[in-house]
Amino acid sequence: MTTATLETPLDGVVGARTAKPLAKAFGVTTVGELLHHIPRRYSRRGELTPLAGLPPGEHITVVAQVLDVRERTMQRRRGSLLEARITDGTGTLSLTFFNQAWRARDLVAGRRGIFAGKVSEYRGQLQLQHPEYELFENREDAPGADQLDEAAAKAWSETPVPIYPATAQVPSWTVQRTVELALDALGPVDDPIPAEILRSEGIMPLGRALELVHRPRTDADWRGARESLRFREAFELQLALLDRRRRAAGEPSTPRPIESAPLARFDAALPFELTGDQRAAGAAIAAELAQPHPMHRLLQGEVGSGKTLVALRAMLQVAGSGGQSALLAPTEVLAAQHFRSVVEALGPDLASEMNPVLLTGRMPAAERKRALLALASGTSRIAIGTHALISDNVTFFDLGFIVVDEQHRFGVDQREALRRKGTQPHVLAMTATPIPRTVALTAFGDLEVTTIRELPPGRQGIETFAVPEIEMPRRAARVWERAAEELVKGRQIYVVCPAIAPGEAETPSGEEPGDAGDAAGEQRPIANVAETVAELRARPEYAGARIEGLHGALPGPEKDRIMTEFAAGEIGMLVATTVIEVGVNVPNASTMIVRDADRFGISQLHQLRGRVGRGEHAGLCLLMTRAEAGSVARERIDAIAATSDGFALAEVDLELRREGDILGTAQSGGRSTLKLLRVAEHGELIQHARDVAGALLEADPELVAAPGLAELLARERAAGHIDNLAKS
Ligand code: ADP
Ligand code: MG
Repeated sequence: MTTATLETPLDGVVGARTAKPLAKAFGVTTVGELLHHIPRRYSRRGELTPLAGLPPGEHITVVAQVLDVRERTMQRRRGSLLEARITDGTGTLSLTFFNQAWRARDLVAGRRGIFAGKVSEYRGQLQLQHPEYELFENREDAPGADQLDEAAAKAWSETPVPIYPATAQVPSWTVQRTVELALDALGPVDDPIPAEILRSEGIMPLGRALELVHRPRTDADWRGARESLRFREAFELQLALLDRRRRAAGEPSTPRPIESAPLARFDAALPFELTGDQRAAGAAIAAELAQPHPMHRLLQGEVGSGKTLVALRAMLQVAGSGGQSALLAPTEVLAAQHFRSVVEALGPDLASEMNPVLLTGRMPAAERKRALLALASGTSRIAIGTHALISDNVTFFDLGFIVVDEQHRFGVDQREALRRKGTQPHVLAMTATPIPRTVALTAFGDLEVTTIRELPPGRQGIETFAVPEIEMPRRAARVWERAAEELVKGRQIYVVCPAIAPGEAETPSGEEPGDAGDAAGEQRPIANVAETVAELRARPEYAGARIEGLHGALPGPEKDRIMTEFAAGEIGMLVATTVIEVGVNVPNASTMIVRDADRFGISQLHQLRGRVGRGEHAGLCLLMTRAEAGSVARERIDAIAATSDGFALAEVDLELRREGDILGTAQSGGRSTLKLLRVAEHGELIQHARDVAGALLEADPELVAAPGLAELLARERAAGHIDNLAKS
């Protein structure tokens, strides 16, 4: 066999029949990709056990001799059953194999071997179904053969057995066998990481790490191998992110000077003082906009912390030298609201000068045409819209600055498409979903991060209560009484439901819904907008209030109308899905009721809560749930009720969420980006790897002395892998 490299196509090494199902199940097509399919865990075959008195339910390993073998066709199911009985002199045990009649060739009466599996009981007889086994060479006549067998058996029983992520079509042991074939065929492996770094970090060369992670002889083998591979992952990722940041920062861009007449006028008319954090963030952004290189910055801060205001001031700086800005919002509702509040914040004079335009997918043709013209000619300095802004027929006169609101809702490809409408415009991504530092480093490692922690003064705060409906029916009833009291005081109320109508879920954020099965007593369907509207309208205590439903399936103009009427106070209760989640700003709304709150993620609930308590009235957030006490779903809800600090919640979220969810679903297609690295656990490692990568790039920016890494980065750039990661 010719020796393979990590790039060798897998089918050339293991054959198409084996390779194809692996490609389908795990997306692995080369030897390297297969060898990066890392075992999930390792099991032991276990202590050698005498057959007498076997414990059912346990994993055991026995050394025994085959007594007899029978094959029969099954009556109930199609297929054959091979049954072998083995004995070690203290007892007997039967081995069963379905549809594996060929094993009769190995398992012949008289052969000795070692057998491992889980003991089960069938009609009073102990058995192992589909056990692993290894038969000894037939050397009964050789002196001392038994001792030899025992020693081999002991070694075999103590070797860690890799257990792979598997599917029904490709079980772990198939992966294991294919991996062994690939390892056997593999020649010397070129290690992209320079030897000095391997030495200083004390990590194994790549070839050795791959061998030991798949074929360890001891636990120390695989532990060391995994640590080494994990460091590589963190290091290569951080290197790619830092490289990307460095390249982006080196691109030329139009400087937008700090002195700006429109901004000065805006500041002079501002009815309040900027908070300290707003000033600091504003100064950092202003300085960067004035540079001849594009800004790439993430602005994170609690809902209502005043990020949009910071962004608007930056737009006015850009407008000062004639440049245009575009604000990209994830939903029509949000784009329309941004538009209204920008127009209002600018005041009549500045608004007519800046001529902001709204651009969404569902505008009347004439209006749309006017907007497009204003942007192409440069008479409009500010564009606000949904992804309609990205469409081909939108051109800008001089697009200098892009603001992406709720950045995690967009893919990098979308951000890039918008960026291409200008020449290296500055980019400010905003998020109200606080991100723990390690996640920020991993997901947004190519961006500078600015955080606003301070809220504008005078906010009344929000009280949050968990309402476990099953344990506390009285408290649940009280929710609706409280809502009535708020209505009487002239306040408005949001009621959020996970679904639109019975059986119709809506999770527009792309966020994983909460642990679905946890809701106890599935007799009532998941709370939905349609039924909740009907229920609430039927209640006498709400007779005087207008109650409307809002969800993503409504036509755009209808959504806008309802939102506008709610903002104007004409609607008392808005029953909605999470379309109202981000950014919606109605200061008179005091109460947020979330039904079946366990269906939402922590950050989503925190966002929802941020919709109330935005004005002079204290906010109240009631999280109704049927999830059982002690479930993860309840832990999430209790965590939110216990703290209003979004950053603390982000950490809790990180702990409670299953790994992988953190970086979103973006990774699911194609190569899964993170394998051994868990942002929740490996914060220190990530930081350290970033330092090492930074030092290397500092000393050798083009990686001349590390051609393997240079090539790796070039490949990643071409394939856009880190883009995928940053998408989350
Ligand atoms: P975010 O975008 O972070 O959710 P916004 O910029 O929309 O926050 O601000 C929320 C509300 O607070 C807006 O009505 C805004 O005008 C107001 N606001 C912003 N900054 C301040 C401040 N420094 N003092 C008082 N109110 C502020
Ligand atoms: Mg906002």
